[in-house]
Amino acid sequence: MTPQYERLAALNKAHLWHPFTQMKDYNDADPLIIERGEGVRLYDVQGRAYYDGFSSVWLNVHGHNVPELNQAITDQLERVAHTTLLGMANVPAIELAEKLAGIAPKGLHKVFYSDSGATGVEIAIKMAFQYWHNRGVRGKTTFITMKQAYHGDTIGAVSVGAIPLYHDVFRPMLFPSHVIPYPYAYRHEGGAAEAKKETLTALRHLLETRSDEIAALIVEPIVQGASGIIVMPQGCLREMAALCREYNVLLIADEVATGFGRTGAMFACDLEDVAPDLMVIGKGLTGGYLPVAATLATDEVYDAFYADYREQKTFFHGHSFTGNPLGCAVALASLKLFEERSMVEGVQAKASFVAQKLAALKDRPHVGEIRQQGLMIGIELVRDKVSREPYDWAERIGVRTSQRARELGMLTRPLGNVVVFIPPLASTEAELDAMTDILAESIVSVTEGGLMK
Ligand SMILES: *Cc1c(COP(=O)(O)O)cnc(C)c1O
Repeated sequence: MTPQYERLAALNKAHLWHPFTQMKDYNDADPLIIERGEGVRLYDVQGRAYYDGFSSVWLNVHGHNVPELNQAITDQLERVAHTTLLGMANVPAIELAEKLAGIAPKGLHKVFYSDSGATGVEIAIKMAFQYWHNRGVRGKTTFITMKQAYHGDTIGAVSVGAIPLYHDVFRPMLFPSHVIPYPYAYRHEGGAAEAKKETLTALRHLLETRSDEIAALIVEPIVQGASGIIVMPQGCLREMAALCREYNVLLIADEVATGFGRTGAMFACDLEDVAPDLMVIGKGLTGGYLPVAATLATDEVYDAFYADYREQKTFFHGHSFTGNPLGCAVALASLKLFEERSMVEGVQAKASFVAQKLAALKDRPHVGEIRQQGLMIGIELVRDKVSREPYDWAERIGVRTSQRARELGMLTRPLGNVVVFIPPLASTEAELDAMTDILAESIVSVTEGGLMK
C-alpha cells in the first residue's frame, strides 16, 4: 500500500459517509479509491484496473474520459458554467429540450429539468397532483405504485416506493400510496402469464373502484430495476397504459434506469409503443457524466398550468442547478454520439452476444434465473434450484459474488441475491467477453466453492 493510499483511506474513514452503505462494514475493509477512468475501465489510486461492470451505478453510456464529452464540457465552461432557469434560459438547455422532445415517446413536448432521478420523480408526482387541481377536479390526490418499486430517495419518491428494506422505517412520515403486484414471473406459481394477469386484474379492480381518488400510476417501464432487474411479461406495460387511459388516470413512466438505450430501445416505453403523460429521465441522460435529470410532459399536462398569473396555476417548483449549462452541453454531446455511433442498434447486437455467453450459466446449481433486457442483466442466485429456495439474506451471497468479481477485475453491486451486470453501452464485444467471464467465474467460485470447469 502506497503512502498516498494510506492517507486517503484514513481520511475516508474519518470523514466520508457513503450512501446505501453500512459504514461499520465499509470501515472494516480496505476501501476502493478510484482515481481515473478510461473507456470501460476505472483505475484505483494504486493503479489497479477494473471493468466498470455496473456503469458506475447504471449511469455510464459511452465509457469514461470520452474526448467528445470532455470537449463539450470545456467548450461550455469557457462560456459559462451555470446560470439559472428561473425566469430566463440558457443555450444548451434550450437545444437539449428540443432534442429530448424529438426522441421521446410521442406527445412529450415539454421538458422540466432537475438534477437527479429522485427530483425528477418529485416533479412528476407534484405535476400530476397539481394537474387535476388546476383542472378543477377535486379528490384525485393519490398514486398507484407497484410492489418492490424504487423511484429514488427523497420523501415523495419514497412515498411511491415499495421496497420494505429501504422504505419501511420512514413509513410514518410518508403519504400513503396504492400498491399493486409487480409481475415477478420467477416467483409466481403460475409463471409469467398468471403473474401478468394478477397485476392487470388488481389494477383494473383498483381503477374501477377508486379512480376518482387517483392522480397517477407510476411505473418503472419493462424493467423494475432496484428490486432485482425484473423484466415484465410481454404486453403488460401496454395493457397497464391502456387501463390508465380508460379510467382517466395519468401514467408516469420512470425511465431513470431504463432510458437512453439501456433496454435495446431509446426508451423502454418504445418497446411497447407506450406514450406516457409524464416521463422521468436521469442517469444516462448526460452519458453518466453530470447530474442532470428531466421530467417530460405532454402538452395536455402543460396546458393545465398555462393561465393568467392571477389564476394561480403556476408550477411553483425548482432547484438551484435546474438546467445547468455544463450538464445540458454534455447531454447534447452524448445524444450526438448516440446518433453517430448507432448506440441503440448496437445495444441489440451486444445484448445477443451477452445472452449467448450467459447461457453457459443456466445449468449451474445455484443460478435460479438469468434476466436480461438489452444490457440490463440480473442473475438471481438461489440456495436450491429446484425449489427456488432463496439464500438467507445474512449469507450475503450477492455481496460475496461482487467482492470476488472485484478481485478478478470487475466492479458491480448486487441487489440482495441478484448479481447485477449493467456494462457501459459502449463496451466492445471483446470487453463484454472478458466481463462476462469474470461474472461467471465469480458466481461459480462463490456458490460452488471452486473454480469454473
Ligand atoms: C436510480 C433511480 C432513481 C433515482 O435516481 P437518482 O438520480 O439516484 O436520484 C429513480 N428511479 C429509478 C427507476 C432509478 O433506477
